[in-house]
Amino acid sequence: MCGFCKDCMKETETKLYHSELILNTKNISKSEGLGSKVELCLECYEKMVISEQIEYWKVHILEEKNRSVR
Ligand SMILES: [Zn+2]
Repeated sequence: MCGFCKDCMKETETKLYHSELILNTKNISKSEGLGSKVELCLECYEKMVISEQIEYWKVHILEEKNRSVR
């Protein structure tokens, strides 16, 4: 299977990444059902997954902090 990585701009084996999770967080309700996806090579895909997990934990830790303050 051959695709085009939008991050490193080269033809390679790709996976579709659900970009709305981190890139369009504010528009989730508006773009519901559209499900914008980004084509990424395996390397970039993993980078995105990792950065998404980091974002997730940042939010999670913030929530925990806010809870303990109250
Ligand atoms: Zn790539």
